[in-house]
Amino acid sequence: MWQDAVTISIAKDKCAGMRITRLRNKLLFSVVAISILMALASMFAVSLVIRQQHLDQSNTLLRKAAKIIDDSLAERKEQQLSASRRLAMQKNFGSSIWYLTQYAQSDVDREVLFNSYRKLVKDTYELGRLTKLSKTTIYDSAGNLVSFALLDGKHEMLGFVERFPTPLFQLAVLKEGEELSRQNLKAANSIAGLGLTFGTALPQQESVHYAVVDGLLAIESYVPIVGQVLEPNTDKQETKQLGLVVTVHTLDQAFIDQLSRLTDVKINVFTPQGFSVGNLANYQRPDWNSVQARETTEPASSMVFNEIKIGGTGFYQGLMSLYSEHHQVGTIVVLHSKEIVQKNTWQMIQTLGLIAVACLVFIFPVTWYFATSISHPLTTLSRIFRGVASNKQVTNLDEVLSQLEDEKNRHDELGDLTQSFIVMANAVKQKMVEIREMNASLEDKITQSTAQLRAAYIEMARLANTDELTGLYNRRAFFEIASLAHAQAKRSESELGFIMIDIDHFKSVNDRYGHPVGDEVLRRVAHCLAATARESDTVARYGGEEFAVLVPDTDLAAGVVLAERIREALRVIVLEVDDEIIRPTVSLGVACLRNEESLKQLCVRADAAMYLAKQSGRDRTMVSS
Ligand code: GH3
Ligand code: MG
Ligand code: MG
Repeated sequence: MWQDAVTISIAKDKCAGMRITRLRNKLLFSVVAISILMALASMFAVSLVIRQQHLDQSNTLLRKAAKIIDDSLAERKEQQLSASRRLAMQKNFGSSIWYLTQYAQSDVDREVLFNSYRKLVKDTYELGRLTKLSKTTIYDSAGNLVSFALLDGKHEMLGFVERFPTPLFQLAVLKEGEELSRQNLKAANSIAGLGLTFGTALPQQESVHYAVVDGLLAIESYVPIVGQVLEPNTDKQETKQLGLVVTVHTLDQAFIDQLSRLTDVKINVFTPQGFSVGNLANYQRPDWNSVQARETTEPASSMVFNEIKIGGTGFYQGLMSLYSEHHQVGTIVVLHSKEIVQKNTWQMIQTLGLIAVACLVFIFPVTWYFATSISHPLTTLSRIFRGVASNKQVTNLDEVLSQLEDEKNRHDELGDLTQSFIVMANAVKQKMVEIREMNASLEDKITQSTAQLRAAYIEMARLANTDELTGLYNRRAFFEIASLAHAQAKRSESELGFIMIDIDHFKSVNDRYGHPVGDEVLRRVAHCLAATARESDTVARYGGEEFAVLVPDTDLAAGVVLAERIREALRVIVLEVDDEIIRPTVSLGVACLRNEESLKQLCVRADAAMYLAKQSGRDRTMVSS
C-alpha cells in the first residue's frame, strides 16, 4: 500500500516534471534565461562600444580631413593670390594694358596691336596654366575684358577682346606647344560664362574669396593692376589702377578626387542651390535643420558632425561652411562610411553568440547536475511525506528511509534537512509503535466490555422474561409465547390447550407459616409443574399463586388428562413446618381454543373453569366446554 502511494507520487512527479513549476526546471530555466540575457546584453554593450569607438575614430578622421581640406584651400588661395599678384606687378604689365586699351579704340595697325595682345594673352594663359585655374581674366581700368584663358582640364580656350570697330571675342583653342597666331584665332560674339565687361565697379583692394561661378563653388581672386602712365591731358606720369586680374579656381571633380585621396574620406561640395560636385552624386542636399541642431562648439574648423543615411548606407559626416564676407557661399561635406562598424559589430556579435552557445553547452549540464542534486532529495522527502500523509500503512518505511542514506552525508543544507527528517521519521515510527500498543490494549478492553455488556444484556433479557422466585416464564413472556402459538394454531388450524392453575387456600399458608414458607411452596409447585409438562408445553407463573400451562396440539380431552396428571404429580409435595405437614393442592381450569377465539377469550374461559373448580370444592379440574 505504501508502495502504491509512492508509485502514485512518482507518476504525479513525472507529469509535473514536464512543467516549469518544478524546482529543477526553474533553476534550469533561470540559468538559461540569465545566460541568454547576459549574452544579449554583452552583444548590445559590445556593439555600443564598437559604435562609440568607430564614432570617435570617424570624428578624428573627419576632423583631420577637414584640417587637410582647410589647409589645402588656404594654400590654394595663397598660391592663386600670389600668382595673380606676380602677374599684376610684372614690369610694364599695367602700362601695356593701358596703352592697348587706349589704342584699341582707334584704327591702329592691327598687326601691331595683335602682337601686344598676344603677349598679354600669353601671360594670362601662363598664369592660368601654372596655377591650374579654370578661368583667368584681365580687365582694363574701365572694367572691359582685355584677355582671358579658360582651362577646364580638357579644353584650353584663350584669347582677347578686340574693341574696334565693335567689341568682339578673338579666341583660339590651342594644342600642346602651339603658339597663338592670327591663323588660329576665331571671332565670336559671345562665350559661355564670360562677359565683355567686369559688370560692376572694379574692386580696388586685392581679395581672395569663395564664390559660386557657373553653378560651381570656386575660389576667386581679385588683384588690382597698378602702374604709372603718362596722362595725355596733363602730360605727367601718374600712378593709378590700370586694370584687374581676376582668377577663378573651381572646386571641380579633379580637385575633390585629389582631396579625397589625401584624406581617405568621401567629399561632396554644395552651393546654396544644392549639390555641386563630389564623390556621392546621390547625396544632393544636406539636412540643414539637423545640422543646425548639432552644431559643434569647437572653434577650430567650425565643423558640424552628424550621422546620415545615403542610399541605404550609413555615414558619419562633417560639414564645413565656406563664407565670403559673412555670407555662406558653400559647404564642403566630408563623409565616412559606417559599413565597417556594421561589419565589425556583426563579426563581434557572431563571436559572442558562439561564446554564449559554448557557455550554454557547458552551463546546462552543470546546472542540470546541481538542480538534480537539489531536487532529488526534496522529491524523495515529499514522496515520503505524501506517503505518510495519505494515511496508508507504512510497512517499509525503513526501506524508503534508506533512499535518503546518500543524501544524509551531504554537508549542505539539504544534508541537514535529510538528517532532521530521519530523526523526525524515527520519532514518528516510535509514536506509531506506541499507538499500535495503545490500540491493542484498547481493543482488549473493548472486547471485555462488550462481553460484559452482552452478559448483562442476556441477564436483563432473562430477568425481563423470567419470574425471579420460581424461574418460570413470567406473565409478560408467557403472553408473547402464547401469542405466537395462538397465531400458529390459527394458521395451521391446529388445537391449542390452556390450563389455569391456582393453589388452594394459599393465603392461610402464608398467614400461618409466614411468607418464606409460602415462597417455598410456590417454588416446589413451579418445579413440579415444569417437570410434569411436556417439552413443547409452556409453563408460567401467571400471578401470585396462579400458574398457566399452554399446551399446543392438544384437544380438550388431552388437556384434561394433562391437568389431572399435574394435579396428581403435585401430591408429592410435602412440607414439614413446626411439626406440621403442609400438602398443597390446586384447582385447575382447562380450555381449548375455539374457532375465531382470541387468546384473551381463551384465558378468560380457562380462568372461569378454574374458578368453577374452586367453587366446586377445590383440588379438582374443571373444563370450559
Ligand atoms: P382460594 O382457595 O380461594 O384460592 O383461597 P386462597 O387463600 O388461595 O385465596 P387468594 O387467592 O385470595 O389468596 C392468595 C394469596 O396468595 C394472597 C397473597 O398473600 C398470597 N401470595 C401472593 N403472592 C405471593 C408470594 O409471592 N409469596 C407468598 N408467600 N404469598 C403470596
Ligand atoms: Mg388465587
Ligand atoms: Mg388460591
